[in-house]
Amino acid sequence: MRLVILGLPGAGKGTQGKLLAEHYGIPTISTGDMFRDALQSETELGSEVKQYVERGGLVPDRLTVALVEERLAQEDAQNGFLLDGFPRTVAQAEALEKLLEGKGRGLDAAVFIDVAQEESLRRISLRRVCEQCGTTFGGEVSTETCPSCGGRLVKRQDDPEETVRARLRVYTEQTVPVVDYYEERGLLVRADGSRSVDAVLQDILRGLSAVTDDEKTGGTA
Ligand code: AMP
Repeated sequence: MRLVILGLPGAGKGTQGKLLAEHYGIPTISTGDMFRDALQSETELGSEVKQYVERGGLVPDRLTVALVEERLAQEDAQNGFLLDGFPRTVAQAEALEKLLEGKGRGLDAAVFIDVAQEESLRRISLRRVCEQCGTTFGGEVSTETCPSCGGRLVKRQDDPEETVRARLRVYTEQTVPVVDYYEERGLLVRADGSRSVDAVLQDILRGLSAVTDDEKTGGTA
């Protein structure tokens, strides 16, 4: 199964992406996580992308597409993948289409988790990430320590409100057209992200089986 997952920051892409990746036995590839790792490890890529990530802007397509191309060439992505946070621009969607054409098999579907901007802002203001294991927690966690590993829970570096507002603006301008791009190609699976995690997951799985005829493959990659 070859999937991309789209939605506003805080829509639940990370949560649903993890569940979908488990369901289909495919790796999740998150460009945001790759950029944050590069920043934290202070690599050359990290210093190149710092100014964009910290201000809530988009990393240039050239860097992002090269990173994804390299990642998709790795062994574990040969039988399917779920891309989280990519593509974010129509140029990235076109580059991905070309790349997959070259490999002989295109995307199966683009999952779009639909939430209102106010809900996105509300969820991000509650979001905490564990400094140690990197797990993200929503409003369900009221302590200062990670329930999984005991690490300190902090706000994500690019989660202050003004940065989030910049990310929402960028999303409207650059990423909404990507949703239309997949809709026009008959690949879009839309789910109402205001519902419970399980209800959203069931919606997505139903939509995916309609688009990809998944019943025949029994839900495997
Ligand atoms: P995310 O965790 O997906 O919200 O990504 C965090 C930040 O990484 C974004 O605000 C961008 O600065 C950068 N980023 C992640 N994915 C992309 C992408 N596909 N294109 C450009 N920038 C990206």
